[in-house]
Amino acid sequence: METSDQNRRKPSNLPEPDMKRFKGSSDKEEENAYETGGPNQSLSKRQFKKMLKKEKWLKYKAEKRAKEKERKKQRKAEARSKNLCLGPSRKILKSSTMAKSSCKIRVAIDLSFDDLMTDKALSKCVKQVGHCYSLNRRAKNPMQLYITSFNGKSKEQMAKNVGYGNWDIHFRTENYLDIFKKDDVVYLCSESENVLSSLSEDKVYVIGGLVDHNAHKGLTFRLAEEHNINHCQLPLQKYLHMSSRKVLTIDHVFEILLGVSEGMSWKDAFLRVLPARKGAVERDSNETRLSPEMSAVDVTL
Ligand code: SAH
Repeated sequence: METSDQNRRKPSNLPEPDMKRFKGSSDKEEENAYETGGPNQSLSKRQFKKMLKKEKWLKYKAEKRAKEKERKKQRKAEARSKNLCLGPSRKILKSSTMAKSSCKIRVAIDLSFDDLMTDKALSKCVKQVGHCYSLNRRAKNPMQLYITSFNGKSKEQMAKNVGYGNWDIHFRTENYLDIFKKDDVVYLCSESENVLSSLSEDKVYVIGGLVDHNAHKGLTFRLAEEHNINHCQLPLQKYLHMSSRKVLTIDHVFEILLGVSEGMSWKDAFLRVLPARKGAVERDSNETRLSPEMSAVDVTL
């Protein structure tokens, strides 16, 4: 029987349910378990079912983690026995820090757009920043990575990554213009008429920390124009035919820059990073260096 809301105790106050008994149980079985007096009667049927589901999920999660761990261990052992490369070792990872890196190219992710994003978009944005970090961390010579305007909702979201404070990133609360010389800044904007040709250690390449699914089309470009900040687009059209929009995600832009900083050609860096659904196909070497739709100036900013 259901009791009134006041009489119901919170599920957390209840004794642990016997998970063996409920493993893989269907709604019907859960109902039976309730009817046969398994639970504390001060709990409603709905609360009881909810509690069972949560407990089942927690148990499943723990089992899943353990299996994943085991699989990972096996894969590692297998790779070792076949003498395959397992990626950089912990020791190497520890030594390839930004400070020790021979690459001094600076890249900043501008997180000043928190208020323009939904919670979901913000969470995606922060995940992409995390991916940039992990790419940089694994690079032999990481780029100098800055996260600027790190003071709003994205900072709260970032806190979900336990220990992020120890990440080898320059987290800065200030806006990028308060950190770098204006003349050194190059804002990366897909709408810019300028096309980047090479990376320079004298410059700071700023990536907009914005996941907007086109809701704020051209925003960073307009802002850069308004504040007289240098801007540039990646030379996508110079090397590739794109069947879809040339607006890339934050982590794709970062990975392309990282590839180029490591000595990759733009074309190879694009082809390595861009997902097939972007429809990136390399241009024929006989084609004109710049396509007719690009009256862009080819610049080294
Ligand atoms: N509407 C947003 C797009 C965000 S995409 C805007 O106005 O910027 C995330 C960021 O990636 C952009 O802000 C830009 O810095 C960078 N980016 C994406 N595609 C790019 C391209 N083709 N060339 C240069 N930068 C690009």
